[in-house]
Amino acid sequence: MSLIQRLAVAHDKPHAFTIQYPPGREYFQKSFRSAPADIADFLSSKGGLSSLSEFGLYLHVPFCRARCLYCNFPIDTRRDTGLFAGYVDTLIRQLGLLADTVPASSKVYGIDIGGGTPTLLPQAEMGRLLKALGPWRARSSAKRPLSVETGPETASREPEKFAMMRSLGVGRVSLGVQTAEADLLVRINRKQQRLEVESALKHLKDAGFERINIDLIFGLPGQGLAEWRADLKLAAGLLPDSITTYDCLYRGKGRGFVMTGARPPSPAVYGKLYEEAYTFLTSKGYHAPYGSVNFSLHRGETGSSAYFEGRLLDGLSYLGVGQYASSMVGCRWWFAPMRLWDWMKAVQEGSALPAEDCYSLPEDERLAKQILWTLSFGYLDLERFREAFGWGIKPRFSRVLEAAQEKGWLARKGNRYCMAPGSFRHLPELRALFYTDGALDWVRTQEDACVPA
Ligand code: SF4
Repeated sequence: MSLIQRLAVAHDKPHAFTIQYPPGREYFQKSFRSAPADIADFLSSKGGLSSLSEFGLYLHVPFCRARCLYCNFPIDTRRDTGLFAGYVDTLIRQLGLLADTVPASSKVYGIDIGGGTPTLLPQAEMGRLLKALGPWRARSSAKRPLSVETGPETASREPEKFAMMRSLGVGRVSLGVQTAEADLLVRINRKQQRLEVESALKHLKDAGFERINIDLIFGLPGQGLAEWRADLKLAAGLLPDSITTYDCLYRGKGRGFVMTGARPPSPAVYGKLYEEAYTFLTSKGYHAPYGSVNFSLHRGETGSSAYFEGRLLDGLSYLGVGQYASSMVGCRWWFAPMRLWDWMKAVQEGSALPAEDCYSLPEDERLAKQILWTLSFGYLDLERFREAFGWGIKPRFSRVLEAAQEKGWLARKGNRYCMAPGSFRHLPELRALFYTDGALDWVRTQEDACVPA
């Protein structure tokens, strides 16, 4: 597809071009679906799990108090102590099966526990899970291999749980604040939490976590510059080690806009919101390459977890544990069963990595996926791509990289193509340059999913 055609698709459907590639799983389902048995064959083959020297570990805990309006994750709002215990039992069983399956010498570059809101687990269950992760942490050379996501409410109300988590090796906690603006919180079905954010931060600091991150979302339905400024000010004023600024579009594929009937912000508005964050946070001592959504107080750190750095920046393999957890090894990408009981049953029957929704991606699709992830750090690192895949980006994308430089969206700095200041508003076009022809064709024929009818 020509450059002009690519830019035309991005112009017509800017909201389809998010960090998530492809924008709809249906595209992969149509062309690259694999049978679970093929994934099992691959994993037991010579190039499968036995060849893994390093991987990331993700544990999915699906429990949430309520569904935020913009979220389409497979969450579970039941509060049942028996269910919590059964879920943790199954996670621990799956970890045991995995330990028997991956090479004993393999390293773990990072471990994330996400969800959901994992810290909704009762303290005793969380303790059991963290103890089971001890041997996995020991396989890592990262300074802080283990990161856990939480919400303000549990961190604010259950300080003892967090002190225990710290004592059991959790080095980093990511606090999903998203917004503290009262009207917005009502609009997106999240609890009022302004005061809780402050006490949550205090408890996390008191517990001694080495790194505390705050997640914020920009471009929420009904969020203007003033509300975004207030959230940035609140977050930076609490001095977390890092602040991550997600755009609302990729979460739930624009579900928040469909549900509220609001129109998603234009790329120019997204650009303005990002510029505000970049200018404000860097003025407060946070640093980030321009274009990155991660801001860190610590020089030389991205602000992201070890798991996400390995997965998103270095393109390393990762294995998912838990209901609907995703895994990727080379060009094989799969999800555990979506239904809780299906996942539990598969693990009880002895499956270390049960797979339900599976894909075998051609190299160009895998590469596009990686490029889109990496761009969320504000740059493409030629060396990292070569190390990860043995595929240079430059030979494949020389025309595209030249065009992006001519447009003033990317600038070459040593081994990196860095997003140029002011280019955030052009991200849909920049992303479209790296899409495969098949994915662009698919986007072209789709309804704009996040524009309300
Ligand atoms: S955004 Fe987070 S807290 Fe809200 S429903 Fe989704 S997983 Fe749960």
